[in-house]
Amino acid sequence: MKKHNFNAGPSILPREVIEKTAQAVLDFNGSGLSIMEISHRAKDFQPVVDEAVALFKELLNIPEGYSVLFLGGGASLEFCMIPYNFLEKKAAYLNTGVWAKKAMKEAKAFGEVVEVASSAEATYTYIPKDYTVPADADYFHVTTNNTIYGTELHEDLDSPVPMIADMSSDIFSRPIDVSKYICIYGGAQKNLAPAGVTFVIVKNDALGKVSRYIPTMLNYQTHVDGGSMFNTPPVLPIYAALQTLRWIKANGGVAEMQRRAKEKADMLYAEIDRNKMFRGTVTDKADRSYMNICFVMNDEYKELEADFMKFATERGMVGIKGHRSVGGFRASCYNAMPKESVQALIDCMQEFEKLH
Ligand code: PMP
Repeated sequence: MKKHNFNAGPSILPREVIEKTAQAVLDFNGSGLSIMEISHRAKDFQPVVDEAVALFKELLNIPEGYSVLFLGGGASLEFCMIPYNFLEKKAAYLNTGVWAKKAMKEAKAFGEVVEVASSAEATYTYIPKDYTVPADADYFHVTTNNTIYGTELHEDLDSPVPMIADMSSDIFSRPIDVSKYICIYGGAQKNLAPAGVTFVIVKNDALGKVSRYIPTMLNYQTHVDGGSMFNTPPVLPIYAALQTLRWIKANGGVAEMQRRAKEKADMLYAEIDRNKMFRGTVTDKADRSYMNICFVMNDEYKELEADFMKFATERGMVGIKGHRSVGGFRASCYNAMPKESVQALIDCMQEFEKLH
């Protein structure tokens, strides 16, 4: 039976990316060696990093003066590296969920943190809109897609101070105006690669402005200077990332990724809104994520939740259980998710409705 992979992350990757990576695991570039058993300084590997950096810049239209880094540690380590490198006195954070909160927690160790707004009181089911970012903050941090709650900022915000964004779960799903940010980061395990590599886009002249000592490995300048090779980078995930970047380019770039994402999300949200058994959890429709589509059973059908899960699983749906802190269902529809899989889930919802 065909599996429809709605996992939230690590998650679906294009089949082509998996096949090309598998091939390199067996034999990298016809060298007779696996990509897993060569040095990151091997002459054949540098072009992999160079092309991945170049494609990041091309696909996201990154202006001059920015570096692209491939590091270890996950987005979670960036929560601490961000304030280490950029927070001198004060930073502003928009609290849109668990990940934003975790980022904010780390920043508090380095200076004053202003929570400009929060939707915690409503279990993060919307993105706050009316707030003021202090004009004297060193930066304003946002989480552009809230993987757990299914809310997303579909456009870059305006801010009186430079922005920093966690784009772990929506990178490469829409064009972004990189010039508004001094740093954009994320774990790769959604739209880019298997787990193990963290991408960081950093504005070079925003570095070196804090007065504290920054431990070598946590200093972005180290990795800018070392071209992501100060220490051994995650070779295999970087190779897979390159395959995904090539796939995005061959499929029309981020504008086309956005068109596809919206098309798939519109299909599924339309069914959630139409079907009497379900409802979406995000209260402001403008905030509905194209990447993580969250829904629950309406109260009168609540006791059928486990039945629907079983029904859908029997029909090949994988990973549609909502995050443990939210419950219900979450269908993650990242770039690699084909429209046919979204349709298969919709068919499931319609068949289930007919049975009840
Ligand atoms: N930020 C967001 C928006 C996420 O979705 C996640 C992981 N799901 C993280 C941060 C944490 O990423 P990592 O596991 O790579 O540390």
